[in-house]
Amino acid sequence: MLYIKCPYCGLRSQNEFAYGGDATIKRPNLNQEVSNTEWDNFVYLRKSPRGRHLEFWHHISGCRQWIKVDRDTATHEIFNTYKANEEV
Ligand SMILES: [Zn+2]
Repeated sequence: MLYIKCPYCGLRSQNEFAYGGDATIKRPNLNQEVSNTEWDNFVYLRKSPRGRHLEFWHHISGCRQWIKVDRDTATHEIFNTYKANEEV
């Protein structure tokens, strides 16, 4: 079982969290023309990397905050966690 250090609550069991997807995807700027292909890529296109990856997790059974987790998808080692609005 994984233990994730929530920046707000401290170390908690993975059971309290829900995976939220890739934290490296940038939303297109507001008030800017975006092609259908660019929008489709933003909404649907995701990589499935093996190795170190930055992910969103939701502390759904705790403080209900979104956080970023720097995790290795192959070994499940967690290197660091951040608040969702922190630049990494
Ligand atoms: Zn929390």
